[in-house]
Amino acid sequence: MSSALDELYQEVILDHNRRPRNFRTIEEGRHAEGYNPLCGDRLTVYLRIQGDRIQDASFQGSGCAISKASASLMTDIVKGKTIAEAEALFERFHRLITRSVEDPVDDLGKLSVFAGVRQYPARVKCASLAWHTLRAATDARNEVVSTE
Ligand code: ZN
Repeated sequence: MSSALDELYQEVILDHNRRPRNFRTIEEGRHAEGYNPLCGDRLTVYLRIQGDRIQDASFQGSGCAISKASASLMTDIVKGKTIAEAEALFERFHRLITRSVEDPVDDLGKLSVFAGVRQYPARVKCASLAWHTLRAATDARNEVVSTE
């Protein structure tokens, strides 16, 4: 990855960290809490689901720039998707951030900015926390999920 691209990716993550999208609660929806003890990231993901479609998604919480930017981008992207589509996207995203650095990067649109965490295994949990929490929220298990 060129350093110019690296900088662009960092810029996207910093922007979402500074001005997180969908940073609010949703009344009368489902929610789940996620915790990454390795870094101290804590997120609550809120969903409004109708049938099998995610009508609205939001989050609150505190954590490092990567965990917040990931939650910010994720809540934007899953809006309007079915639960099965969101689940499939999580699987592709998880592959993106856990593949070996030599492997080519899947084009996942804006989510591709997280390909950089492959170089930092400890950061994989920061980037995936929002997605694990989303999965818990779609299952409507109102429990705290931990990346450990
Ligand atoms: Zn973190």
